[in-house]
Amino acid sequence: MQRILIIEDERDLAELLAFNLQQAGFAATMVHDGAAGLAEALAHPPDLVILDLMLPGLLGTEVCRRLRQERMTSGVPVLMLTARGEELDRVVGFEVGADDYVVKPFSVREVVLRVKALLRRSGENPTDSTGLQIGPLQIDIDRHRVTVDGAVIELTTLEYKLLLTLVERRGRVQTRDGLLQDVWGYNYAGDTRTVDTHITRLRTKLGSAGGLIRTLRGFGYKLEEE
Ligand code: CA
Repeated sequence: MQRILIIEDERDLAELLAFNLQQAGFAATMVHDGAAGLAEALAHPPDLVILDLMLPGLLGTEVCRRLRQERMTSGVPVLMLTARGEELDRVVGFEVGADDYVVKPFSVREVVLRVKALLRRSGENPTDSTGLQIGPLQIDIDRHRVTVDGAVIELTTLEYKLLLTLVERRGRVQTRDGLLQDVWGYNYAGDTRTVDTHITRLRTKLGSAGGLIRTLRGFGYKLEEE
């Protein structure tokens, strides 16, 4: 049975989530403050963490950052619960590293669906397989070869890296800042318009598969899951 750790100080909400996750066939553990939640996650790494942003003890952002740093929990998907729209950029971006988020107030059904989607995604490691097919787009990772509807697409190293980053995180929103850091490198001094320019070029090159890359205005990009 897959185990979900819920770190949420609103007890009613934590219990509601736990109840619904149990109904959906998961085991759920609740912890009501940040420091205790982090300790629990490190002591017994769960399959997924639902993490509130505003927590007593230790903020959700800090808990997430610490989970990412520890070998035992670095690969555990984190679904962040947040009420503050302005934090989203940091939360799902490189800085904090949550895999997904929902904004309060949310429907519990939505949270359960997101949990299932994240677990499904973490169960399959796209870089393990040599061939990846998403709609008309096909990537041969071993050979660094990209084809669309069977036709080879010539990409620069950077474009390939950008595409692969989006593909590996498909279905998840990637912020411009996050992409800039992950694709171009931490010390790159350019601005986020660089990302827009390369996305535009990549879309053009991908032709009929270009539409897989969606723009989330003012926020970032997402490669659609098929
Ligand atoms: Ca809270």
